[in-house]
Amino acid sequence: SSGATPTTSRRAHGVTNPIGTATAIRVESVTKTFDTAAVLRDLTLDIRAGELLALLGPSGSGKTTLLRIIAGLDRPDSGRIIFGKDDATRLPVQERAVGFVFQHYALFKHLTVADNIAYGLNARKRSDRPAKAEIKKRVGDLLDLIKLSTFGDRYPSQLSGGQRQRIALARALAVEPRVLLLDEPFGALDAQVRKDLRRWLREIHDRTGQTTIFVTHDQDEALELSDRVAVLGNGRLEQVGTPDEVQEHPASPTVLKFLGDTI
Ligand code: ADP
Repeated sequence: SSGATPTTSRRAHGVTNPIGTATAIRVESVTKTFDTAAVLRDLTLDIRAGELLALLGPSGSGKTTLLRIIAGLDRPDSGRIIFGKDDATRLPVQERAVGFVFQHYALFKHLTVADNIAYGLNARKRSDRPAKAEIKKRVGDLLDLIKLSTFGDRYPSQLSGGQRQRIALARALAVEPRVLLLDEPFGALDAQVRKDLRRWLREIHDRTGQTTIFVTHDQDEALELSDRVAVLGNGRLEQVGTPDEVQEHPASPTVLKFLGDTI
């Protein structure tokens, strides 16, 4: 097969937001065991400021667990999560300034699209909350960014699955997160919508330069979408590199076998 031609890559788009060499997030020697099963084994990974990193691996390899630990929804047994220069290992989720989108959209059914997008801003305590007009402007800008300008007054039940995931992304971006965490965000959608959204997400990323981690078990998706791919196997980081690097020089038999399934 290989839908992995880099038509949506950063190069093809022209680099509008060059990736720095600065580390936005460092995962340092993280270990996590559930019951007796080691899920993450001494895993170290740097996420660079402004990059779109795909976390790729077969089902059960520990991707979601790693994302949850970065988000603060789970604690590692040992190791650290460092945001910039700050040790965030013990910081609760609300204080991490992360944005999430999961596979099963969780928009608030009783709120309009605009109120869904504004939710995180409206939920802030008064001293941190932007003025009403400013929130309105930000919501309008985000609706433009996701190309749903006229959808602000609709309700989630009036939208397609793909549109809902675009709104969920806008909602996550509204709070200007330090990192955007996407866990198989297009997993529940059909193949064509999924392909369109892939390209769309890449464009949004090129425009915003938002540091993003994208979890997927789909090799084509990872290779087509990302600046770098981190391949997980059995709780270990097997390889991290550009899509070209991991395809042309697989670092281990596990990587070769996993990528080899589609190439
Ligand atoms: P992936 O996202 O790569 O599919 P996960 O991180 O979801 O992998 O899961 C890795 C392993 O950890 C799986 O074997 C899963 O059953 C186990 N696991 C994940 N969360 C829990 C939990 N809360 N309790 C027990 N086992 C868990």
